[in-house]
Amino acid sequence: MIPTLSTPVRIAPKSNLGDLARHQATQPMNAEKAEVDLPRIERAVREILIAVGEDPDREGLRKTPNRVARSYAELMAGLGSDPQVLLRTVFKDGYNQVVLLRNIPFHSMCEHHLLPFTGHAHVAYLPDGKVLGLSKIARLVDAFALRPQLQERLTDQIADAIMDGLQPLGAVCVIEATHNCMTIRGIKKQGSTMVTSAIRGIFQTDDASRGEVLALIYGTSRLT
Ligand SMILES: [Zn+2]
Repeated sequence: MIPTLSTPVRIAPKSNLGDLARHQATQPMNAEKAEVDLPRIERAVREILIAVGEDPDREGLRKTPNRVARSYAELMAGLGSDPQVLLRTVFKDGYNQVVLLRNIPFHSMCEHHLLPFTGHAHVAYLPDGKVLGLSKIARLVDAFALRPQLQERLTDQIADAIMDGLQPLGAVCVIEATHNCMTIRGIKKQGSTMVTSAIRGIFQTDDASRGEVLALIYGTSRLT
């Protein structure tokens, strides 16, 4: 049960958000399309610059609030998309072995510090008569990553979306990421990586299936 799937988060007080969300989900995500209140971010960034003792009107900083606003629109573009739309295009197929998309690069924004965390997602499922285009899996990762996020929740949301949208026999999402809030501030542990996994369906109940899919993800399968 994932609230964000049935009730996509909307970030602007618009009356036609339903249409907007549907439209955006079919379009490549970029800063221009995201429905973000840019002037409001600009005002906030100006306040931050003043608060840290800077002069927001000096030459080098004059356009910074606008640049930051635009980058935020891009970094939060997933909020304007409905990830379930990506799962509507499925292909009927008799393929009944594990499908794995490994090493999907992503970046997201830690919701506790609004600092980036970056890494790779590995997404696998065991089809039950339906398969998904590989690019759809990669876009699903972006749709959930481009918003204020926690790595644990991101991992769960990707696996649950595949279970809900595709109804496979099982799904796995493993994410390995480095968090800037841990490497450049606070405890400052450079090089530490956080690994999270969400294991669903047959991969949860059947040890052999889980072993096989994890071996594929980590590249140690006897098949390769
Ligand atoms: Zn953080």
